[in-house]
Amino acid sequence: MDFNFSDSIVLWYIENKRDLPWRNTHDPYKIWVSEIILQQTRIAQGLSYYNRFVQRFPTIAQLAEASEDEVLILWQGLGYYSRARNMHAAAKNILEKHNGIFPSSYNEIRSLKGVGDYTAAAIASFAFNLPFATLDGNVFRLLSRYFAIDTPIDSCEGKKQFASLSQQLLNPAKAALHNQGMMDLGATVCLPSSPHCDECPVSSSCLAFSQNSQNEFPVKSKKTKQKERFFLYVKICDKGYTYLHRRSAKDIWKGLYEFPLIEWGEELTDEKLFDALATLLDQFQITTVNTVHASVAHQLSHQKILARLVEVEGSIRVGNSDFIKIRENQLGDFAVSRLTELLINSKSLNYSLSLHPIK
Ligand code: SF4
Repeated sequence: MDFNFSDSIVLWYIENKRDLPWRNTHDPYKIWVSEIILQQTRIAQGLSYYNRFVQRFPTIAQLAEASEDEVLILWQGLGYYSRARNMHAAAKNILEKHNGIFPSSYNEIRSLKGVGDYTAAAIASFAFNLPFATLDGNVFRLLSRYFAIDTPIDSCEGKKQFASLSQQLLNPAKAALHNQGMMDLGATVCLPSSPHCDECPVSSSCLAFSQNSQNEFPVKSKKTKQKERFFLYVKICDKGYTYLHRRSAKDIWKGLYEFPLIEWGEELTDEKLFDALATLLDQFQITTVNTVHASVAHQLSHQKILARLVEVEGSIRVGNSDFIKIRENQLGDFAVSRLTELLINSKSLNYSLSLHPIK
């Protein structure tokens, strides 16, 4: 059955493969870039980033020699910025240790920063046709339905069970085609809701299809807890200049720039804004609050951020080195989070007349 299964997948893939730039190459560098971009990003959004990335950094050496800021600017808007930082660090490592040549063994690929089991198997099989099965969310879903497996896919037991099963199903001689077929079939036919079973090449032996129980799989054991955070960004206008801080803490958006930030324990209503702004006064002198923007909600995978932006007149206090001073028209030269972009373009509530100057 295993060989028939794999043959069906491979045949289906050859006829239905999506025309994507990273599918028409065996260059491990380009496959690596595409896989890292697509880790948390839909193809429709990732495609333009991929094209810009490989155009700007066509080789590992060019990526390794770029500054981190340059890499992050290209990544701006994609989120999960640690992916870009890890890739940059790994490119430097490949340049130093492998003379700029992408490693060709699974273990060496797996040891690159930011490369986990799935990405290593994808690069190893797509670029070098090495017999390592890829197991992403699409493949978990497809296999759990095909075999009607109710072991939770997010449990240790489930991960082991599915890893072993996907490896057994792989035709080692056609690792690249099999893996790409499994992933594409999961992404385009075995959809999370309303799978297109009538178009599926393995429907005749799919247990969930025969039992009409597709919606019961895959099984998950836990729900991810959502954390709520409340941010107030303060754009300080200082005679054509403003101030940015580079995030360095072990938190979201490490390496990106942002306006001075106050994180608050509860939602920042209009009444709370002055209390929050007061916490900045040891670092900045604030003379006037010019503009208050409406709240913007921003959803990340495990946290929801409710943020506001206020624009004030002011200046930095002497001796404060946490911020860099830039011309306001230089803002576009710095990599910022999607949230900061949204806030800059958010609706201004024009409260300037009702708020009082604070010192
Ligand atoms: Fe998924 Fe339906 Fe194919 Fe089964 S028959 S693998 S449920 S698309």
